[in-house]
Parts: sequence; C-alpha cells; structure tokens
Amino acid sequence: MAYFATAAIVREPGGPFSLERVELDALRENEVLVRIEACGICHTDAKFQSRVPLPGVFGHEGAGVVEETGGAVTSVRAGDRVIISYPWCGACPYCERAEPFKCEKIPALKFAGKRSDGSRTVRLNGQAVSSAFFQQSSFATRAIALEHALVPAANNMAPEMLAALPCGVQTGAGAVMNTFGMGPGDSLVVFGVGTVGLSAIMAARVVGVSTRIAVDINLSRLARARDLGATHALDAREDDVPRRVWEWLPRGASHALESSITASALADAVQCLGQGGKIGIFSGPPPGQEFRFSTLELFQRVGSLHGIIQGSAVPGEFLPRLMELQRAGRFPYERLISTYDFADINRAFADLDEGIAIKPVLVFPQEGS
Ligand SMILES: [Zn+2]
Ligand SMILES: [Zn+2]
Repeated sequence: MAYFATAAIVREPGGPFSLERVELDALRENEVLVRIEACGICHTDAKFQSRVPLPGVFGHEGAGVVEETGGAVTSVRAGDRVIISYPWCGACPYCERAEPFKCEKIPALKFAGKRSDGSRTVRLNGQAVSSAFFQQSSFATRAIALEHALVPAANNMAPEMLAALPCGVQTGAGAVMNTFGMGPGDSLVVFGVGTVGLSAIMAARVVGVSTRIAVDINLSRLARARDLGATHALDAREDDVPRRVWEWLPRGASHALESSITASALADAVQCLGQGGKIGIFSGPPPGQEFRFSTLELFQRVGSLHGIIQGSAVPGEFLPRLMELQRAGRFPYERLISTYDFADINRAFADLDEGIAIKPVLVFPQEGS
C-alpha cells in the first residue's frame, strides 16, 4: 500500500525548506507508520544537511499517532500515541546488554539518510531521496519509524510537550541522571545553556546537586538558567570562569558538561574540576577546528572526559520518568519550548540560529482542526 505525506524538502545545505507531497515506502516488518503531530528541531537537523545527498527530509524528534504497523510489530497498534526516540540496531553486544546509546550502528542509523538495508523511505516526484534520518525523517505529516524507538505517550499531553523530549532534553537530563548519576554532594558547571544545558541544570536540581553553575555568552539565556535552577551564572566573555568557580567551590567542581561547542570551553572545564572530576561532552569541534585542553591538568586532577550520546538513556524508561517529573512541577521543560506551525519551518530554524528560540517545536495541522 502506498502512503503519501507532506514533507519539508531541503535542496541545499542551510535550506530553505519547501513543503511538498511525497510518497512513503512500504513498511518493513519492524516498522510503524506514524501520523506526526509535532516535531522538535535541533541543530543536528541543520548540521547533517551537508553530509548526505540532497534533496532530503530531516527531523528526528517526532511525536504522533500510530496509523499502521509492520507484520512483526507487537508493542504498539493503530491509534496509540507515541514519541519517536533514537534508533539502535538491537543486535550488537551493546544493544544486547540494554545499552542502546552505545550501539555500534548509531551513526549509520541516524545520519546515513537511509535504512540499514540501504533503501530510502521517501520518494519525491518518483525519485528516492535522503530520508530515514534517525530512522524517522519527521519533518513530514507521516513518518516511518522503528518499533523499538517508540515510547508510549499519554493522550492528554500536548504534542509539543512530547516532541520536545527525545533529543536535547533527554541528552541533558540523562547526562546528569544516567551517565554520571549525580546527587547531593556533587557540583556542576554547565558550559552552554541551550536545550541540553538547561535540561542538565533542571535535572541537577531534581537530584539535589547543590551548586549548579551556568556559563554562556548570552545574557538572556543566563537569566533563564537562573530561573530554571542555576545557582550561579557566568558570562564567558567577561568572567574568568575557572577562577570564579574555585571561589564558589573551594575543592573545584565534581562535574562539568560542555555543550557550547566553543574552543575555550573545554579548556576552562578542565580548569574547573576538582580531584576525580568528570567532564561530559556531547559533540566534537566543528569541521576544521581543534579543541585544545591540558591533558596534564586533567591527569593531575585524576579527571576523566566522557562522550555522551542521548544521555545514556533507554528512552522507554527515561522519557516517562521525565514526563512524570514535569507533571509534578519538578522538571519544567515546557519553559524551553517555542511552537511553530509546520508551514513556518524556515522561521523556526532562523529563530533557533539567532538564539530567539531555545527548543523550537513544529506543530502539524490535524484533520478537523
Ligand atoms: Zn546495536
Ligand atoms: Zn537532536
């Protein structure tokens, strides 16, 4: 059976997007067709436009309602509301020991623009185009997703609340709660307070980390970080960050998270650490750049540097926990969200680039609305 959708097509890196009618491929056994209600936008959607042949369909934080299921699907059925989280292979040693965030196949499954068997899920004017981004390509009214990436969601949560969760929020909160298992007695310095950094600060408050220091160059973001639980805020352009951190924390920080992707931040993070301190990173430097930091100082501090993918989260367990904390008023991630109509996708990207929106979420027109 053929499925059709309206997808945001991008033909050159950096856009613009145009909404066009596409045809979706037949479902594989382990796939599910989801009618998309909302989809979050993150920098990854822009960054990877230059790494696959275009045109293509991006979007990796979809949420919506199951319309059809492949023959082997058992955990969801038509009518179920779901969040589409990140894909994994299910067969490598890391997947088998329930650590899908370490899956060997993650880069290919997320970024290759096709399924693991090499096929594409979207056809535009009869031509297969780059799709299956994060095995979803959810900048479209319908998306094909893997069964195991789906997380059940309550019917009474707003679509944008679901679609804001599965990437940056999961990653930032997961870094604190899963990767490092922080708690009372720990202290945290967060470089860059976008979605990942702010989620980390909110999570650190939940688990009782007493000192939560936000570092950024955007004063309005620093103000928001304070609103959302940062105990201290530093302007990286004005302040000597390590010196100030050591004033507040006489034994240095137990943890630092680097989400700003700026050259000086990782060097500063090392300088902020106390003995046995840990640094989490979420990305590498932009192409053509190198980040330098003192390995000697990291060593002398008995410190470690940890790459973090998807907040070391198993989404089916972790996202329900975050939604529960939100309902209890303890993890107010709704305050990061700006919503846009799907048709305004270009404005949403511009607002993300300019720092006007922290977590833009596209909301899709629904039948009868
Ligand atoms: Zn795997
Ligand atoms: Zn993302």
